[in-house]
Amino acid sequence: PRLANQIAAGEVVERPASVVKELLENSLDAGATRLEIDVEQAGIKLIRIRDDGDGIEKDDLPLALSRHATSKIHELEDLEAVASLGFRGEALASISSVSRLTLTSRRVASEHAWQVQTEGRDMSAQLSPAAHPQGTTVEMRDLFFNTPARRKFLKTENTEFKHLEEIVKRLALSRFDVAFQLKNNGRIIHQLKPALQKAEQERRVAAVCGPAFVEQSLHVDMNAEASGLSLKGWIGLPTFSRSQADLQYFFVNGRMIRDKLVTHAVRQAYADVLFHGRHPAYVLYLELDPSLVDVNVHPTKHEVRFREGRLVHDFIFRSIHRVIGDVRP
Ligand code: ADP
Ligand code: MG
Repeated sequence: PRLANQIAAGEVVERPASVVKELLENSLDAGATRLEIDVEQAGIKLIRIRDDGDGIEKDDLPLALSRHATSKIHELEDLEAVASLGFRGEALASISSVSRLTLTSRRVASEHAWQVQTEGRDMSAQLSPAAHPQGTTVEMRDLFFNTPARRKFLKTENTEFKHLEEIVKRLALSRFDVAFQLKNNGRIIHQLKPALQKAEQERRVAAVCGPAFVEQSLHVDMNAEASGLSLKGWIGLPTFSRSQADLQYFFVNGRMIRDKLVTHAVRQAYADVLFHGRHPAYVLYLELDPSLVDVNVHPTKHEVRFREGRLVHDFIFRSIHRVIGDVRP
């Protein structure tokens, strides 16, 4: 219970975007290098995610759908420096309880794939053989078909798709090594090849954030030898500031976060060049010793707690101030 209390349990399934987030994190945990995301009606009708990861053993397929069967947290230390993104062992169980779910998977050594299907609480979980290359496909249909009250909370298809696309964008910006394809109602929205070289990464940033951002941004590449901090990425020129804080991506050790300290440090660095009410645009990657950051303040929100807040704040401020300072009028 002590451990359980330290993990603020959130609603896992709030909307199609949260389903996509959990499923993609599972795929990445399984070592996937290609992710195909196919949705219909912004994911309300269908979310199908296919990966080329390790796959799930036949006997583990029903287990994967049962609550808490697979939590990856065993020790408190795991929480301190959680390397893998998923850790609650209840995402698939939660999703399958409010939808019609088909899980198809094949391990590399298996002759063929196996499949289980569930429909809401009705979890017969009959295993049947299936055709599938190595990896896993999760197909979720009719989200909230059995919980109409929750279905009513869904917004328009447009809004739900924006949320869903945002999840894909964040992951695409955090995993340049992985290929992403996102389709909505049969139309390709994003098609991203793995981007290992700098120029390819910049192309991906342009594809995800728009070419104007990359054209009107500067590179950040700063290291603080003493503290082991590093900050890399792109910051929009003051002229590319936005009326909304909608182009602000900040990753700490590869994980997207939203944090007051970070926002403040970046803003302050822009202070005398930003017009009133404008927001800086950025895609930034902070790397630091994992022991200096607590990522489990809330598992579904994007908060962190820095152990050396002042140090981190000053480093971010100084790094960006230096870059922006060069173009200060
Ligand atoms: P958690 O990720 O917290 O363990 P989930 O409910 O998200 O819990 O997933 C349950 C388990 O199912 C995972 O631990 C993993 O073993 C397996 N699993 C789920 N999705 C995949 C996938 N795409 N590839 C391989 N294994 C998967
Ligand atoms: Mg998971």
